[in-house]
Amino acid sequence: MLADIEKVLLTEEQLRTRIRELGRNITADYRDKPLLALCILRGSFVFFADLVRSVGIPVEVAFMHAASYFADTQSSGEVQLPDEAMLAVGGKNVLIVEDIVDSGRTLNALKETLLGKNVSSLKIATLLDKPERRVVDIDVDYCGFQVPDEFVVGYGLDYNQRYRNLPYIGILKREIYN
Ligand code: 5GP
Ligand code: MG
Ligand code: MG
Repeated sequence: MLADIEKVLLTEEQLRTRIRELGRNITADYRDKPLLALCILRGSFVFFADLVRSVGIPVEVAFMHAASYFADTQSSGEVQLPDEAMLAVGGKNVLIVEDIVDSGRTLNALKETLLGKNVSSLKIATLLDKPERRVVDIDVDYCGFQVPDEFVVGYGLDYNQRYRNLPYIGILKREIYN
C-alpha cells in the first residue's frame, strides 16, 4: 500500500466482483435496446473500462468532461460541462457512468443537460456513493458501493491529479491535503 493512503477501503477483488454484478444487471436491463455508455472524465475512466467490459451486449461509448473540484477536496458547487456540444445523444439510451456521487451537483447538472438533448432514456451508474454528503436529490440506478464521508482516491479518483492509477480505493491521509 502507498504511504499516502490511510486505509484501503475497497480491494481490487471487491471492485472486480461488484463490477461484474453491475455488468450483469445492465446487460439484463438493456437486452432489447441499444446502450450508449457515457464516461464522465476523468474520474470514472478506470471504472468505465471495467464496467463496459462486463456488459454482455454491444455498447456504444462516449466521453465527457465534468469538473467541479479544483485542487481541493470540497466540491466548488460550480459544474463545468465543456464538451456538451460534442455529444450526439439524441434518441439514445444513455447510461451516465460516474466515479462518485457526493453533493449530487455534478450529476444533477449533467442530467439536466442531457435531458435537454432529447435522450430516449437516461440512467446513472456510479461506482461510489457518499449519501451523507448529498445536497441535491439524485436517483442512482446502479451503485457499486456506499462509502463513508472520507476523501477517497484510486481506481480513477484523484487528489490534485494524483493517485488515479492505484488499483484499489483508499482513504487519503489527511496530512496530504491539510
Ligand atoms: P458532487 O458534484 O456530487 O459533489 O461531486 C462529484 C465529484 O466530486 C465526483 O465526480 C468526484 O470527481 C469528486 N469527488 C467527490 N468526492 C470525492 C472523493 O472522496 N474523492 C475524490 N477523489 N473525488 C471526489
Ligand atoms: Mg466524477
Ligand atoms: Mg477529481
